[in-house]
Amino acid sequence: MTNKLIVALPDVEAFLQRARGSFIDGGFREQGNPIAIINPADGSQLSTVAQGDVALADEAVAITKGSFDDRRWRGMSPAQRERILLKFADLVEQHSEELAQIETLNQGKSINISRAVDAGFSVDFIRYMAGWTTKLEGKTGDVSIGMPEGANFNAYTLRQPVGVVAAIVPWNFPMMIALWKAIPALAAGCSVVVKPASETPLSVLRLAELAVEAGVPKGVFNVILGSGSVVGQHLAGHADVDKVTFTGSTEVGKVIGHAAVDHMASFSLELGGKNPMLVLADADIEKAVNGALMGGLLNQGQVCAAASRFYVHRSLHDEFCSRLRSVVDQMSVGPGMDPQAQVNPVVSQRHQRSILQHLERAKAQGANVHYGVQVPEEGFYVSPVIISDAKQTFDIVREEAFGPILTVIPFDDVNEALAMVNDSELGLAASLWTESLSEAMRLTPEIEAGTVWVNTHVTLDPSLPFGGFKQSGIGKEFGQEAIYSYTKLKSICIAY
Ligand code: NAD
Repeated sequence: MTNKLIVALPDVEAFLQRARGSFIDGGFREQGNPIAIINPADGSQLSTVAQGDVALADEAVAITKGSFDDRRWRGMSPAQRERILLKFADLVEQHSEELAQIETLNQGKSINISRAVDAGFSVDFIRYMAGWTTKLEGKTGDVSIGMPEGANFNAYTLRQPVGVVAAIVPWNFPMMIALWKAIPALAAGCSVVVKPASETPLSVLRLAELAVEAGVPKGVFNVILGSGSVVGQHLAGHADVDKVTFTGSTEVGKVIGHAAVDHMASFSLELGGKNPMLVLADADIEKAVNGALMGGLLNQGQVCAAASRFYVHRSLHDEFCSRLRSVVDQMSVGPGMDPQAQVNPVVSQRHQRSILQHLERAKAQGANVHYGVQVPEEGFYVSPVIISDAKQTFDIVREEAFGPILTVIPFDDVNEALAMVNDSELGLAASLWTESLSEAMRLTPEIEAGTVWVNTHVTLDPSLPFGGFKQSGIGKEFGQEAIYSYTKLKSICIAY
């Protein structure tokens, strides 16, 4: 266990004092039931925030809708909105250390990840999406309408902002996933209300303050706190919400999709994954092992696209597992605020228990469970785990544990391995490890997942659409697809 903690910036302390509840119409709201926000590294209380309720959610939606209806944001020129979003990116960059520290203190992950991914990638993402503001366009069509005789027609399509967007986000990358939804929505001219997970509201609240500082008009980017089953569910079913965008579990995604359809809101769902990594006999084993550690243990495996089932050719299986074991046996353990620590706490005690229950079940089913480095009792740590010689029938191969568990299944025949890869209800992401270009070209189209990587895993880019097949969701984030999903398409036909 290492213990060289970085000291939180004074700005972080000041923010924790200030942010006491939902952020609506440019300010914090303290009314509501106060709940403790916990630091998962030691179970201590970071701050308290007031949970919103149905009445406050109604107010947040009314404010968001008011800002859409009076055109204070969508009525600006695209170039003006682009400039404001670019300024927002600059502010997120300037405050990136503060934001990274808030994220690590609240979520538990390594400060290195918070700096590089949660803050760093977010800045790139905002800049990429800001560019779309000035590039939304419709098409003109050469129509063949023959009546009335002699009439001429001009027809074209118009992309308009979809309206009020409710973004419901999870606790694993609270700030980054909120931005994945809010920024394309804002770029398209929408007004947004974000509901963070109850465990991790802090970084999103700070983002909302920065958005106002950047020039996003008050009331356009709001944050409502509250429980998923009350406030989240209410937002999804709210008649004045035009689009619901959700990241989280498949189970909750279905509830949200139904609620949205009931009032004909559009929706997109980024859901769970049980993501395979397929390692062929000709793979570079060192690259594959490094890829497995990165793809499987990033943020303690609390990543929707994390690799969690590893199909490894029998000729490599034992060496692959022994290399993984030797790394996880020696990883350094500590709070996310210790930049040297490689094993950090998971988000909450509830989630820690859930991961440990998955492991108990795996052992009961005969899994060969190897625990890595020992972890402290204080804080919500889970030792990284390698399960070797696993069977496709084990629950741990089929169910998402969302923790640091790498389960390795040997195979002899690549087509049988492909069948096991696809034998899952989920289909978010997958990776293939091979030095053979022909195998890569043959297998990538056959793998049932929204993203397939070759010789890499969890590699995202703002321009590359991301979202699941099968039970892993509906719709895409990133790229033009994301921007379009926050617009509605109107056809205009003019007779002259
Ligand atoms: P969750 O589904 O329980 O919660 C996600 C969000 O939904 C939270 O804000 C929560 O408060 C809210 N919520 C809960 N019940 C609700 C309801 N009935 N109506 C409306 N909102 C409700 O998931 P979680 O535990 O926060 O996150 C972990 C899950 O999210 C994992 O299954 C993981 O795979 C998935 N995930 C997916 C992606 C992706 O991009 N596909 C990314 C991150 C996490």
